[in-house]
Amino acid sequence: MSSPEINSDVAILIVAGGRGVRAGGELPKQYRDVAGLPVLTHTLNRLSEALPGAAILTVIHPDDLDLYENAAGRSHASNLLGSAQGGATRQASVFAGLKRLHQLKNNIKFVIIHDSVRIFSSNKLIMNGLAAAREFGAAVPATPVSDSLRRNSADGFSEPVDRAGLLAVQTPQCFSLDLILDAHEKATASGRQHFSDDASLIECAGILVKTFPGDPANFKLTLPEDFVTAEALLLSRLADIRTGYGYDVHAFGEGDHVWLGGVKIPHKRGLVGHSDADVGLHALTDAILGAIADGDIGMHFPPSDPRWRGAASEIFLKEAMRRVRERGGMVANLDLTIVCEEPKVGPHRDAIRASIAAIAGLDIRRVAVKATTSEQLGFTGRREGIAANALATVRLPLQGASA
Ligand code: MG
Repeated sequence: MSSPEINSDVAILIVAGGRGVRAGGELPKQYRDVAGLPVLTHTLNRLSEALPGAAILTVIHPDDLDLYENAAGRSHASNLLGSAQGGATRQASVFAGLKRLHQLKNNIKFVIIHDSVRIFSSNKLIMNGLAAAREFGAAVPATPVSDSLRRNSADGFSEPVDRAGLLAVQTPQCFSLDLILDAHEKATASGRQHFSDDASLIECAGILVKTFPGDPANFKLTLPEDFVTAEALLLSRLADIRTGYGYDVHAFGEGDHVWLGGVKIPHKRGLVGHSDADVGLHALTDAILGAIADGDIGMHFPPSDPRWRGAASEIFLKEAMRRVRERGGMVANLDLTIVCEEPKVGPHRDAIRASIAAIAGLDIRRVAVKATTSEQLGFTGRREGIAANALATVRLPLQGASA
């Protein structure tokens, strides 16, 4: 990793405007979850870790603003410039992004253009590309082709192609911003709109492109099986598996509603507490903090601090999730049990589950909500308050064990 100052003249343009139909599924592939996070989130995190000083702009399809905001919100990347609207082709999208970048940041000299669906680009690959761009103005990673090649002819027949000297092109492709902007302007002005990548486009403007070694691990998530491979790879890195437990109680007092798991439930009494007294979210927050051995809710949000008076408890759960993601980890599941005689939780269970999943930024299939009474025994049985128990399973990168 380089220090932020060194690459403050570098920006990253993530190309995320495609529709990704070949990967299957309901969402464009760059927004589908892999190992608990959208593909784009992994990409933003990876690039930001490699180049913490570089601003990141993402070019998106105009229909995908909500999907982008969700992916960016779940990223721990530090330097996101937001999104720019792409065009009808990849080339038009990159051009729109480059122009926006130029407007937003006048100190940028180099730009790294990267596919949103390559989540495994190594520091070495990115640094090599940047170094080559600083020296030559334009650089592209490429790998030798290992399969034998054939060209389709007709009616299901094909002819051999000599693969000697042939290379498969990847991203990140790295350029002087002035050179690549100029090349895009020329290509658009002359009506050439279908370059499949920026290296071929800039070459058309007469600029020589330096080739540097690509990386077979830097594959593009294209087909359904690529997603299976990517998930297996990511999960194999998150092999430090932790379980955390959280418990919370709040007493009934004045009021006409209670908050449970971020859902407002009408009731003849309220719960007493410094914040909104959401026992469910408090127990879940402590379970996650417990799994990463990072104190408890009272330590991070002291009741003595007036900032948390009446606070919506979703900020506590979000902060616990942020702490997991900051460590490069993921929450594999949350399991909450609410204990009370009243209000009846059952009718609200699905809403509570959806609310927790939304607050935590988790797939709903990773969130369970259960409810029970205590058979009229103890303080919950006497209707004096509500208790909540929670478990969280967290997966951390292996080096997290020594931290
Ligand atoms: Mg509490």
